[in-house]
Amino acid sequence: NWIRNRIFYLHRVKNYLIPRPDEIREKKWVRHFQPVTKGKKYVGALVIDPKPGIHFNVVVVDFASLYPSILKEYNISYETVNCPHKECMSNLVPETTTWICSRKKGLISEFAGIIRDIRVNVFKRLSKDENIPKAQREFYGVIQRALKVIINALYGVIGADTFQFYYLPAAEAVTLYGRYVIKKAIEKADEMGLEVIYGDTDSLFIKNPDVEKLDNLVTYIKDRYRLQLEIDKIYKYTVLSSRKKNYFGITDNGIVDIKGLMGKKSNTPPYIRDIFYQILDKLRTVEDIGQFKVVKNDIIKIINEAESKLISKDIPLEELVITVTLSKKTDQYTKTTPQHVKAARMLERALGIKLQPGHMIRIIKTKNSEGVAPIELVKSLDQVDSKKYIELLHSTLEQILEVLEIKVNRRRKIATIDENRMSLDKFFKF
Ligand SMILES: [Zn+2]
Repeated sequence: NWIRNRIFYLHRVKNYLIPRPDEIREKKWVRHFQPVTKGKKYVGALVIDPKPGIHFNVVVVDFASLYPSILKEYNISYETVNCPHKECMSNLVPETTTWICSRKKGLISEFAGIIRDIRVNVFKRLSKDENIPKAQREFYGVIQRALKVIINALYGVIGADTFQFYYLPAAEAVTLYGRYVIKKAIEKADEMGLEVIYGDTDSLFIKNPDVEKLDNLVTYIKDRYRLQLEIDKIYKYTVLSSRKKNYFGITDNGIVDIKGLMGKKSNTPPYIRDIFYQILDKLRTVEDIGQFKVVKNDIIKIINEAESKLISKDIPLEELVITVTLSKKTDQYTKTTPQHVKAARMLERALGIKLQPGHMIRIIKTKNSEGVAPIELVKSLDQVDSKKYIELLHSTLEQILEVLEIKVNRRRKIATIDENRMSLDKFFKF
């Protein structure tokens, strides 16, 4: 691939020998921190505990291309990490016995630097230059993003064991530096009186920050760690749950961000997707804590109404359709038979036809023994399994309701605010 060829080329230019993977592997090979995630070979990024609750005016700052910048600024490459020079051995990665060369520039890090500079100084600038025609600006934007992909891939070059230049201590060093600088940034923010309410990998959520203090933090990080912090977005408000990576926020231009958006799944029936978007629209209108309380009650009402409608089947059948694409012929599913395949077989039997891969099968969850039928064979709404749709509604909304502390009661089928997990008073104290 292109990156590999470029790196080989750099070796030739510099008159370096291209190392064999086993040569890299014979070097000092120490892992300092065990990965927490299964299947990972080295420690992951840092995610700090969120402060649960609703927070207004939250500025999200992030480190611009954190890992590539670390590669470049900290001279990390397969040959500079644990290099053979004695005098470099004191140049340690924080909290480890891994050292980094201070005599020679690393190939990977140099390459990352060249591409990053071209991206930032040339194409990113051009893509934002108002004096250039729009079409051309967009073209520069495409290049700029393509270069970003390449730079990010460089981290993979040393971090993925399928690559020629894979060297675990180097990959570990990158993530450790990442964890280190984000910790240092939080410490500094605290010291300056900025309130950090959440942090994930390369970003910090800062509540209601003083502009000058924020500027000072950016300057401090730039001077001290040679890394660029920039404002990523501003949330009019954000609601954090006590779980990591589980929150939503409304940006200052009205966009709703939900971490791992559930309602976007394509196999959600139109009716349920509508309810989801109604809830988002409600959330978008919130300007203060008083409105937030009102909106929360409105959302509970929306859910209760949707549940009643599903029970009384006061919804057109079309609105309950789940569309799934057949990925192979129905007789090629041998181990398991997914619901949509069951429905497809029913349709084939009824019409005496064979459906081809790529066919969009439209299914309804029904009360028959299969629990499913193609819409073409559903004669009346009586056949619809309301319970299954209510479950689907709940699972679609699960994440957003968890953040909002709204609990759906499965037996009474009434949504209420979850008072057990966290009292409302406590929740609204922020
Ligand atoms: Zn050295």
